Amino acid sequence: MSSGTNDTIAAISTPPGEGSVGIVRLSGPGAVRTASALFVSPHGRSPLTHPRQRVFHGHIHDAAGRVLDEVLLHVMRAPRSYTREDVVEINAHGGPAPLRAILEEALRRGCRLARPGEFTQRAFLNGRLDLVQAEAVIDRIRARTDAALRAANAAASGELSAEMRRLRETLADALARADAAVDFPDEDLPELVDAAFFDRLRGAAEDMRRLLGTARAGRLYREGAEVAVIGRPNVGKSSLFNALLRDARAIVSPTPGTTRDVLGEQAQFGGVPVRLADTAGIRDADNDIERQGVDLARRALRSAQVIVLVLDAADGWTLEDRLLADETAGTVPVILAANKTDLAPAPAEGHGDLAPPLAVSAKTGAGLRELEEALAAALLGGAAPREGGPQLTRLHQEDSLRRTLENVERALHAPEGAPECLAADLRAALQALGEITGETTPEDLLDRIFSSFCIGK
Ligand code: GDP
Repeated sequence: MSSGTNDTIAAISTPPGEGSVGIVRLSGPGAVRTASALFVSPHGRSPLTHPRQRVFHGHIHDAAGRVLDEVLLHVMRAPRSYTREDVVEINAHGGPAPLRAILEEALRRGCRLARPGEFTQRAFLNGRLDLVQAEAVIDRIRARTDAALRAANAAASGELSAEMRRLRETLADALARADAAVDFPDEDLPELVDAAFFDRLRGAAEDMRRLLGTARAGRLYREGAEVAVIGRPNVGKSSLFNALLRDARAIVSPTPGTTRDVLGEQAQFGGVPVRLADTAGIRDADNDIERQGVDLARRALRSAQVIVLVLDAADGWTLEDRLLADETAGTVPVILAANKTDLAPAPAEGHGDLAPPLAVSAKTGAGLRELEEALAAALLGGAAPREGGPQLTRLHQEDSLRRTLENVERALHAPEGAPECLAADLRAALQALGEITGETTPEDLLDRIFSSFCIGK
């Protein structure tokens, strides 16, 4: 990755739109010089003559001496800054015009516009953050639930990195022993590769399996999931959708076939951010618009990670309900909900492999909490959310750790008296492990990770 850390980068670090404060951030060897050239303090103070961290109050001027904005300059000297370079944050008024004017002035004075994620990339390249922590930066920003924020905070605090270091030390020590056994075949081999050696490797494999068990929950918290509410027309899908959102979002009507689009809204179940989709009632529609709605409903059904199939308790199981249940069979977890149980009891039997329906009433709110709990359980799929403790949050981490584990397992089964096989497997394991924290991550993956950040971060 070309980092070119000799140049000084600049970007607006706050989101577009209006806010009381907006920040233009500069980082690099020329950050303080550039900021000083733009800045005029009423007391004649200059960041250039102050070697330490400081906040200055004054104005930003353009080359013609016109005031662009009144600001606070936050000067952070290397290495005590986010990027470990000299950083100046210009706290200006948070509107598009002042921020753009200040940024343009900084660019005119020799700064380069930062690429997406480049501040964090510099923090990574300068050793301030490892890859796990760098990715946690963006996860904190994008966290949509408290559980997602907790997972990101745990990663940012270095918990996962510390766990990776421990594993790395175990594997590196094992590799050194295996290499020594290859190099000095006549020495006392059992001393180097003994039962305790394999116990340590088995312990490391166990730790990896436990960590891999956190991956599903970690990824769900970060990425979220889709849940589709489906069923025949008029069973109360829209009412249930509104009740789950605690908001009258979808139109509720006694006329069958009123929902013709797929309505999507954000919700959360068990800390998992969810896009909840209300769909058109699935039936053989007799007009084109409704037919299109039914097609969209089927598409939502196929893209969902969990399906809520709604029945009408007053009707019990109908043939259409059973056909729909068959259509969803064997795809993703399906939760049966018998609605309108204020009118009639829920049917006692399930269908196929599906357990009997949960009794709910969108009208009275009965059973909604149980439905939410069932949704959380189905989403997490038994992947217990970890309270504290390190957690994997990304697919590439999971993929690397799985390959590490495979190689360790192969090492555990290496033929006796063949230390070169053992060494080769352990070397491959270390290589895969290093991809998680960034030591051995391929350039293109690093590029992809940082370019998914926003500009200014
Ligand atoms: P959808 O077509 O499946 O989305 O159904 P709606 O949510 O539009 O509801 C159809 C009709 O059933 C409306 O008249 C609702 O007021 C009524 N309804 C929905 N849920 C309940 C419920 O739990 N109890 C009763 N008694 N009526 C309900």
